[in-house]
Amino acid sequence: MVRIRDALYMAALAYSSTSGATQQDETINQHAFDQRLDEISPELDEPGGAGPTHSIVSDEVADVVNQQPDLKLVVISNRVAPFDPSKPQTGGLAAGLEPVVQRSGAVWVGSSENRGDGTERPLPLVETGAGFVARLDLPAADHAGYYRGFSNSTLWPALHSLPDRMSVSEHDYEGYQRTNDFIAGAVFDVRDRDLFWVHDYHLLPLGARLYELGIDRPTGFFLHTPWPAPDMVEYVPNHRELMKSTLKYDLLGFQTNRDLNNYSAYLRTHFGLETTDVVVTTERGQTRLKKFPIGIDPKQFADYLAADLSPAEQEKVSSLLQNFEGSKFAIGVDRLDYTKGIDKRVEGFNQPLRTEPHSISLLQIAPSSRADVEQYQKYREEVESAINRVNAEHGTDRWSPIHYKNDSFSQAALARLYRAAHVGVVTPLRDGMNLVAKEYVAAQDPKNPGVLVLSKFAGAAEDFNENEALLVDPNHPEEIAAAISRATHMPLEERVTRWRPMMDKIESYTIHDWAADYISELDKSRVTVPADQFLHLGLGWTNEAQMPLYQNYATALTAFNEVDPADAALKEAAYADVKSSFEALAAPLMHTQDRLWVLPAPESFA
Ligand code: UDP
Repeated sequence: MVRIRDALYMAALAYSSTSGATQQDETINQHAFDQRLDEISPELDEPGGAGPTHSIVSDEVADVVNQQPDLKLVVISNRVAPFDPSKPQTGGLAAGLEPVVQRSGAVWVGSSENRGDGTERPLPLVETGAGFVARLDLPAADHAGYYRGFSNSTLWPALHSLPDRMSVSEHDYEGYQRTNDFIAGAVFDVRDRDLFWVHDYHLLPLGARLYELGIDRPTGFFLHTPWPAPDMVEYVPNHRELMKSTLKYDLLGFQTNRDLNNYSAYLRTHFGLETTDVVVTTERGQTRLKKFPIGIDPKQFADYLAADLSPAEQEKVSSLLQNFEGSKFAIGVDRLDYTKGIDKRVEGFNQPLRTEPHSISLLQIAPSSRADVEQYQKYREEVESAINRVNAEHGTDRWSPIHYKNDSFSQAALARLYRAAHVGVVTPLRDGMNLVAKEYVAAQDPKNPGVLVLSKFAGAAEDFNENEALLVDPNHPEEIAAAISRATHMPLEERVTRWRPMMDKIESYTIHDWAADYISELDKSRVTVPADQFLHLGLGWTNEAQMPLYQNYATALTAFNEVDPADAALKEAAYADVKSSFEALAAPLMHTQDRLWVLPAPESFA
């Protein structure tokens, strides 16, 4: 494979390979690197082809750009999916990426349940379908700082705009960075794959680590959480360093426009970087920003409803539903996490019961999460005492207003519970997307759907508008109360009118569309051209996009050549100008060249 970068260096820096400008009597001129390119492949000089006015990528080149069958993808996330058909999938990531790995041969790298001594070992690849999974034993010494500390006690609350929940420690930050270094080192084993797709806040700096290791393949990041306003990011220690590292990715994916705009606002405020047409240009190259609202698999939810549950699960679901026979109930399904607003929801739920006793019950499913983090332990106590208060105020011997389950349910069981519930209450204080909102909608009976009460601060609220869901401020229990009352009494016609467009949206952009969309966007960060267009692309790109830099370089070369070799000091100074203008020209060009690694080069190129 030949890279124009190499040609540029050989042509222009040939001069500097001598001991110094003053001893240099070789004339260099502005055609130097063009000539080098000619030397590479003289037979490629097509009529009417390369030249200073040739466009960056001709139509015919554009046709072949991005035609990449059989992409060899590497997915990296903190955890990997179970890849076990007997275990239900939880969360969008597993549902979206398991098929990609199993059918298209991707490698998925994440952490194992075990901790290691930090020694680098070959990537432990295990076959799964056509692809592979690699579970790493992350370094024990840094794990608390990486996971419980910086990821979940610093970044998580900051990303959800909850500074009061944050704790910060430089030690945690160091553990976080070292763990990212470790993961990058492990991933280096698969450096020759085509695309690298990194997930979530645990791995913000991973792209920069991969870049530093010399992995020049397109590298993208998708953030599953919200991205907050710049003043919130400022609470995060070393935020500037962290943010700079995100600019080493080629593609940054967000759940919503709000997140994307907040991210751009930080770049503007702190780095003076403008986002133009969702592209940020830095000295490394371009980082594209794009919204990819994660979805669900609605067909799978339909299948869940049609299939039988295991006898044990059927028993669990039936005995729960018995509590609500003959009455209405709302459902909440959330990890027991302070971002989910369960406490405020319970408070809101109290109010309709005062005005209309026994009008509705609440089934709150809240499996424990991050139970080793102190904030989560405290939150669990707060939620449980709020529930106990409501039950004490309104409950009777035969009726409890709130049924609370702290264990987790399979999605098949959840589908049945969603279907039976008259109201879905999804009121997180902030949420990247909130898949439960979409699952609730997908599980409804089209002829008699329930009503979604949705926080306006969940990403899903950018998909579902106020004509569809009942949007509420999750910080105000009275708003939640009013929405629950309204939902309880909503006539069938209005319920259908609201539900239908939500369902259409869910079906039109599923979790599989999300994964395919992201991968195809990431793939655009590489440029592939047939060998007979290589020369044209290089010259065209140089001249069109880099013309001002090229002109500087050409002017410096001319000036250098005009200086009398006898005037050593002037010759030296002119050489310095040539060198710096060349470097300015070469830096961004190198970035494009780094994407040209799969040229179908003929023998003569070798
Ligand atoms: N979930 C589950 N069993 C449970 C509770 C939740 O399978 O007992 C799943 C739920 O179906 C959803 C996911 O966990 O797919 C939660 O995703 P969401 O985006 O709502 O919140 P997150 O937990 O990612 O913050």
